[in-house]
Amino acid sequence: MVPVIALVGRPNVGKSTLFNRLTKTRDALVANLPGLTRDRKYGDATVGDRHFIVIDTGGITGEEEGIDAAMAEQSMQAVDEADAVFFLCDARAGLTAGDEVLAHRLRQSDKPVFYVANKIDGVDPNVAMADFYQLGIPQLYPMTATHGKGVRNLVDDMMQHF
Ligand code: GDP
Ligand code: MG
Repeated sequence: MVPVIALVGRPNVGKSTLFNRLTKTRDALVANLPGLTRDRKYGDATVGDRHFIVIDTGGITGEEEGIDAAMAEQSMQAVDEADAVFFLCDARAGLTAGDEVLAHRLRQSDKPVFYVANKIDGVDPNVAMADFYQLGIPQLYPMTATHGKGVRNLVDDMMQHF
């Protein structure tokens, strides 16, 4: 099967950077399929000889108030369409309330979730990783989406589920 992967996380954590790297595009196609919201972008991802579909989420346009809830709502719609989730956090920013809201929502889903500490470049990886392990997760993948570091390892582990 060709798995469908949702990229989920707060604004600015690097979801679109990862999407563009996975799909080797700079501006992904917006799927024209009925029932799919324009708030999400769909692309064909290739890493080595691995192929999957990736969904970028974003475009949170609500008021600041309730933004975490709005983000979580939109993210969960992408999760519903996906077979697995890449949940990105920003290692430079550390763990935030928004991360915790999303992590809580994802625990209610039965989809496999892969937790990613992105922007690990330029920070002490041990300190950054320890922060995110407070989410109570079994494994965390360090990544630098801008350089592609950590992408292969994450994708290899994800593909073992399918
Ligand atoms: P999104 O809102 O989650 O889609 O985040 P973007 O992909 O738009 O990235 C937000 C900002 O973070 C951009 O300026 C990216 O260049 C930057 N960024 C993304 N990944 C990395 C990374 O691995 N390291 C660093 N230092 N910056 C990154
Ligand atoms: Mg984005």
